[in-house]
Amino acid sequence: MEKILIVDDSPVQADQLKMILDDNYKITIAQTAEDGLRCASCGDYSLILLDVIMPGIDGFMLLKKLQEEIITHNIPVILITSLSDIENEERGLILGAVDYITKPFHPSIVRARVNTHIKLYQYRKQVEHQSMTDQLTGIANRRQHDYYSTIKWQEAVRLQVPFSICMFDIDHFKAYNDTFGHPAGDKVIIDVAHIISSHLQRSTDFIARYGGEEFVAFLLGDDATKSFTYLKKIRQAVEDRHIPHDPSTTEWVTISIGGVTVIPQREISYDAYLKIADTMLYDAKRFGRNRVVWANEKMKQWREK
Ligand code: GH3
Ligand code: MG
Ligand code: MG
Repeated sequence: MEKILIVDDSPVQADQLKMILDDNYKITIAQTAEDGLRCASCGDYSLILLDVIMPGIDGFMLLKKLQEEIITHNIPVILITSLSDIENEERGLILGAVDYITKPFHPSIVRARVNTHIKLYQYRKQVEHQSMTDQLTGIANRRQHDYYSTIKWQEAVRLQVPFSICMFDIDHFKAYNDTFGHPAGDKVIIDVAHIISSHLQRSTDFIARYGGEEFVAFLLGDDATKSFTYLKKIRQAVEDRHIPHDPSTTEWVTISIGGVTVIPQREISYDAYLKIADTMLYDAKRFGRNRVVWANEKMKQWREK
């Protein structure tokens, strides 16, 4: 059931709206703008019904705040008010409200408008999800990585937790394609994606297909040695799957991994460390493939084998 947040200082009016929508949606009521903002930030809502006139922070101000926050700026907002003048309606729409409902309510009109905006939101979320997902493997794609890494990096700068970035690349994959054909190569990419992602199941772990046969992941919380140890396990898991390779190059399909663990600092970008992870991957290839090479921010290096 889709969730709707009603932000209204009048309990009577909020209950009236709740009764109109209760059958089809899960309704939460917040009685102040502050409470509304808090709920909206953590609640996974598909629509917000927002009263314009409230003591303290009013509906327009809250709408502006919702639009500014990265977590809430996509949630559609319908303004509720008795102000039926054009000026206020215009102001609300310019600020980003998707619609405007004036009091007194006609239940069928409220229901119809809400249903329409919920449907539009669901459609948008579906399109967004598709544009952020890699078609072949079903995991996140590079676009999602670019979007999500920025948010998570900022969060880690604030929380000062260790942040590990790793790049994975399938070894001798051109030879695999040449021997077994492209469709078989695609299956290997899917297999490898699933082996890696099955090892990255913490809520703070993230993995994406970065390009052809390359993946990128980030992990939060573990120091360099712990991450290095864990990534060795993932590399081993791919080797242990015993996917036959072209015997003239290597027996089984394997991957090389390069990574770096840092305590994120505001003045250094995520991309700068992603580059270091890529350099470590290059070293892993250079030192013989099927291995993990890791670094910390002081560029102390850990090498497998
Ligand atoms: P290395 O061990 O140095 O990584 O060698 P490599 O052969 O894996 O590296 P290279 O970058 O030369 O080749 C990557 C190959 O990956 C070439 C390309 O045909 C293949 N590839 C890239 N994307 C796909 C894909 O979506 N499907 C398949 N089947 N192959 C892909
Ligand atoms: Mg490659
Ligand atoms: Mg490769």
